[in-house]
Amino acid sequence: MASDVTFSEEDLALGERLFEAPWVFVKGVVGLEHLPPADRAEVAFAGRSNVGKSSLINALTRQGGLARTSNTPGRTQELNVFEPTGPLGAGRLYLFDLPGYGFAEAPKAKVDAWTMLVKDYLRGRSSLKRVFLLIDSRHGLKANDLEIMAMLDAAAVAYQIVLTKADKISERALAKVEAATTVALVPHAAAFPVVLATSSETGAGIAELRATVAAIALG
Ligand code: GDP
Repeated sequence: MASDVTFSEEDLALGERLFEAPWVFVKGVVGLEHLPPADRAEVAFAGRSNVGKSSLINALTRQGGLARTSNTPGRTQELNVFEPTGPLGAGRLYLFDLPGYGFAEAPKAKVDAWTMLVKDYLRGRSSLKRVFLLIDSRHGLKANDLEIMAMLDAAAVAYQIVLTKADKISERALAKVEAATTVALVPHAAAFPVVLATSSETGAGIAELRATVAAIALG
């Protein structure tokens, strides 16, 4: 997958090791008082509903049913927490799956619930090392993505754009959206300057994303 960053063999191997042992669901958090203690590194996955977030988490962990797809009732307004069980990662990392945003016809109460819970979490969590903001390769950055980015910039929460469903467009179109997204990130203070392109379908970019998470958790 096209990317300007090169990952060393060691980085990639560490990523594979972090994700080769099973990952488990820790809990669904409905209010900030239920968060696990902030005693280890955390990464969070955020994105518009249907961006491919559940599929990406399942691809990363090689566990088909770990993160439930948005079409499954329940869990949707919760922060779902996962952790690795292997010797490398146990006790060192939480992965947060944040509820998707941008429902076309979401009731206001649902949007408000998302806003309160997720924004409070994102702004106030000292152990949160990076937010992976998922963007559909076919669509690029949308207004509600830019809103989240502005909030993360203001709160100085580091985030990185991950393009999803890269298999759905041509290599040329993908290179174009990668370049446009990279340029769009320049004025965003908290944005990591490297865009990762992934496909849960083909596995493209998954090893690089594993390596990125491993570097954050174990580095
Ligand atoms: P979520 O709402 O962000 O959790 O999105 P899901 O993971 O449920 O995915 C939404 C839809 O996109 C589903 O129909 C998936 O099968 C599809 N999808 C997700 N990732 C990919 C991908 O990498 N490639 C393709 N072709 N389809 C994908």
